Amino acid sequence: TRLNLVKLCEQILDELQIAELMPQPIVFAINGETQDAYIDEKLLRHILVNLLSNAIKYSPQGGRVDFTLNFDENWVVFQIRDRGIGIPPEDLQKLFETFHRAGNVGEIPGTGLGLSIVKSCVDLHQGDIYVESKVGEGTKFTVKLPISC
Ligand code: ATP
Ligand code: MG
Repeated sequence: TRLNLVKLCEQILDELQIAELMPQPIVFAINGETQDAYIDEKLLRHILVNLLSNAIKYSPQGGRVDFTLNFDENWVVFQIRDRGIGIPPEDLQKLFETFHRAGNVGEIPGTGLGLSIVKSCVDLHQGDIYVESKVGEGTKFTVKLPISC
């Protein structure tokens, strides 16, 4: 079945807010002409919940999180950008490995599983995931999924 992506994103943001995982605002924006997509709701939830809760968790000083949904012909592109602690360059390559945590996490709790689950979900949908980050400035994750298979 086709999934209403805008509705799902809004639902997830509401749920995170109710769970009080959201001390700072997540600013949601949509670009392009919205389309429903052949994407599995559970897999997409894993992807978005993990990336959004990381953006919040690794921004201990606060700072806005931008969540953008871009419709681009046959692709939907999700971007989650934070202004948190960032990821050291030497950790970027190992980020999606199970149990890998970067050297700068300090006391921030975690098991290092979230991103390996995200990566598996993206691969199951034959999508792509990229990360850009600068220590002390913030991090941007981009997930690109085909709208129909
Ligand atoms: P959990 O299994 O609870 O998600 P985790 O958050 O440590 O634990 P991942 O979500 O897999 O694990 O993330 C792996 C590592 O990548 C983190 O430990 C952290 O070092 C780094 N990381 C992930 N997202 C961010 C982010 N938005 N900002 C800074 N570092 C991040
Ligand atoms: Mg995590």
